[in-house]
Amino acid sequence: MWTNWSGGYQGRPSSTVRPLDEAGVRSAVRRAAERGQRVRPVGSGYSFSPLALTDDVALDLSALTGVVRVLGDRVRVRAGTTLGELNSVLAGRDLALAALADVDAPTVAGAIATGTHGSMSGTGSLSAQVTGLRMVEGTGNVVEVSSAELDAARTGLGALGVITEVEFAVLPAFVLRASQARLPLDEALAPDYLDAHRWAEFSVFPYAQDALARWADEVTEQPQPPSAMRSFERRVVRSAAVGGGVALGRTVPRLVPTINRAATRFNGSGSVTDLAHRVLVARPIVRWDESEWALPREALADGVHELLDAISDRGLDVGFPLEVRVGPAESGWLHPAHDRPTGWVAVHTATGTDPEPLVKLTADVLGAHGGRPHWGKRHPWTAAKVAEAYPKLTDFQQVRNRLDPNRLFTNPYLHKLLG
Ligand SMILES: Cc1cc2nc3c(=O)[nH]c(=O)nc-3n(C[C@H](O)[C@H](O)[C@H](O)COP(=O)(O)OP(=O)(O)OC[C@H]3O[C@@H](n4cnc5c(N)ncnc54)[C@H](O)[C@@H]3O)c2cc1C
Repeated sequence: MWTNWSGGYQGRPSSTVRPLDEAGVRSAVRRAAERGQRVRPVGSGYSFSPLALTDDVALDLSALTGVVRVLGDRVRVRAGTTLGELNSVLAGRDLALAALADVDAPTVAGAIATGTHGSMSGTGSLSAQVTGLRMVEGTGNVVEVSSAELDAARTGLGALGVITEVEFAVLPAFVLRASQARLPLDEALAPDYLDAHRWAEFSVFPYAQDALARWADEVTEQPQPPSAMRSFERRVVRSAAVGGGVALGRTVPRLVPTINRAATRFNGSGSVTDLAHRVLVARPIVRWDESEWALPREALADGVHELLDAISDRGLDVGFPLEVRVGPAESGWLHPAHDRPTGWVAVHTATGTDPEPLVKLTADVLGAHGGRPHWGKRHPWTAAKVAEAYPKLTDFQQVRNRLDPNRLFTNPYLHKLLG
């Protein structure tokens, strides 16, 4: 049985194929086509949505890893390489990805397929850093995707083919000093804060007045990696505030507002200076389910306030903070930040609690502000909403019709979204 990271979705593929190279991917695709089966490429299973779920053939890309080549400011890697492996290889060559998510277990192909992003107002998502990719299409042939069609494939939802290699633009390695402090919510929401740093985000608990702001700027100092003990302490302090609150809140839901206020106070301040990926990636200790929405940047403040009010009006026992991030407009045709600077708002529910009431409320409130859902997270959208929200959907479908005319690469969830 296959399950995603949160445990929210489980599937029983009729077979799981783990190709060792691109030739293996081609034969798996051809064999499935001959048998009339469908294929889902599967990365690390870190999506909270059922994008990778299948009852047919699961194509596990975990053996297709490693760097193909590094040429100047371009690096080409195999699709199943995890972001963590890529970060380490790049650091060894004094290079770095320009965009960093807060997790490094996803594969490069899975991350770009869903538009995985970080918290930099001036730097696009991982999808935006893609300069080329190689893909096995529905016939089993291999295509190099570049030029205009790259904007379809850079956030392709696994609906166009099986990516075997991804090429990224990279930067010289950089050192960040990251800090955190409590801020009044309206200060944290202001451009003065969110746009003033290389990287900036904040979390705010429902029922609390202050936000926990975390920001980072480039410095010329040498990296000062924290000791293993200090790193562990930082993870525990953060998780104790969040995860401990979640566990207690599930036992005694009426305590949730009090726990959230206490967690905000507990998460004090501190700073760390290190290579960017070591500063920004945080390995989680607890598990959750998540929904995240990309709002037009000008709607961010109203969206956050309304969502917090709606949660407290309904008395929902939300034991995780809302997470707020920003990013620039993206060129990817199906990227949720397509064509507009974006404010991202994420909500979380503890594994084992029904996520749907919060997912629906968030979709209602943030959808009304022009929000588009993150593809790798939970949401209730269907094809009609997608068509309304994405002006380049028809162009995407044309590329899809050419690369996968028989819809080999689909599942019920993709069918619901794209037809
Ligand atoms: C703890 C945690 C933290 C996270 N943090 C962030 C964050 O900071 N920012 C953010 O934006 N998201 C974040 N996410 C969401 C997640 O990282 C993404 O949704 C990402 O897609 C997961 O990559 P994966 O390798 O696990 O892909 P999977 O979940 O396995 O698959 C996702 C999609 O990619 C497709 N796919 C996988 N491999 C290929 C391939 N070779 N060719 C074609 N399609 C392929 C699949 O078919 C599927 O459609 C987080 C998730 C978790 C669990």
